Amino acid sequence: MNQIDVNNSGVENDEQQTQSMLCPLCQTSNQCALTTKQEIENCWCKTAEFPPKSVLLANKLDGSACICQDCLERIKQEVALGLKRID
Ligand SMILES: [Zn+2]
Ligand SMILES: [Zn+2]
Repeated sequence: MNQIDVNNSGVENDEQQTQSMLCPLCQTSNQCALTTKQEIENCWCKTAEFPPKSVLLANKLDGSACICQDCLERIKQEVALGLKRID
């Protein structure tokens, strides 16, 4: 059984959608499925392993836009190396 979320959280705003096409960290295309008109469930970010939310917030990421895979890897490495301070 598939659970379909009817509450389609905030994807109808065109302007926001355009902004969320870009990685907020490096301003290149984040390849998010939403930017290619696919279901968010198909996005690479759905299967990627993300660092804890506190880390993302420390990078000024509030979850409104996907970062790109490069930046995700970089952040994860920084966390692993203990370079990022998590306050
Ligand atoms: Zn990036
Ligand atoms: Zn995504």
